[in-house]
Amino acid sequence: MPELPEVETVRRTLSELIVGKRIKSVTVSLPRIIQKPTDYKQFELELMDRHIVEIGRRGKFLRIVMNDLVLVSHLRMEGRYGLYHSDEPVEKHTHVIFHFDDGTELRYKDVRQFGTMHLFAPGEEFTINPLKKLGVEPLDPTFTLDVFKQLTTGKQTKIKPFLLNQSYIVGLGNIYVDEALFRAGIHPEQITGKLENDQLQRLFEAIVSTLNEAVNAGGSSIKSYVNGQGEMGMFQHLLKIYGRKDEPCIHCGAPVQKTVVGGRGTHYCAQCQAAPMVGLGEAQ
Ligand SMILES: [Zn+2]
Repeated sequence: MPELPEVETVRRTLSELIVGKRIKSVTVSLPRIIQKPTDYKQFELELMDRHIVEIGRRGKFLRIVMNDLVLVSHLRMEGRYGLYHSDEPVEKHTHVIFHFDDGTELRYKDVRQFGTMHLFAPGEEFTINPLKKLGVEPLDPTFTLDVFKQLTTGKQTKIKPFLLNQSYIVGLGNIYVDEALFRAGIHPEQITGKLENDQLQRLFEAIVSTLNEAVNAGGSSIKSYVNGQGEMGMFQHLLKIYGRKDEPCIHCGAPVQKTVVGGRGTHYCAQCQAAPMVGLGEAQ
């Protein structure tokens, strides 16, 4: 599942590749990818003769902005876009093709077929699902320490599932939540509303810096096509805790632990991220 930095890399790459192009026609060969309108033929018709103005992003959704129309695209597990010349052979699992009037094509390929596309009038996309209920953008200037504190106040959930909940903060997935908690020295099972001010500040800074570093790493390599993982493994060298079970912690040398929190595989260091105190105060 791609996370925010990977989707941001796709956004930047698509911006380089297709902004300014004009869509001549669209071919859909797997109707179920098209969620709105419900008739994929209508989707094909509405996209004819549009030009690409801008590529935006909201959480892990891409917003392909055209004149008077916005296409919202989610890559899910394995969706990927590629730019080709129209005479190049079409690969297997290519489900949607955007034919441009300059002889190139944007092809959407998705082996797992979980990806989705929705068409909206400009602005309408923010008022209707899937974008309607999304929380604050962690890389936006509107995400401040005060906003983060307000979101966490009184929450009785563990901090890891809280960070994964897209209605509070968008774009954080399993990998970057583990990384941010490790950097902040916070155990994934701490109760969100019980974190101290200095912990919240460290966690806020860790979220922003972890995501920014990954975005910057991805943004430096523009390729002709990109997948949901932002070209597999691109960010692997940045990961300090995720996927390092039993390896020594880079800070203290203790073996990295792996457990399950909120149903998700979770990596942490038992020494650097102290477990929450259980039972204290309850016996009194
Ligand atoms: Zn450690």
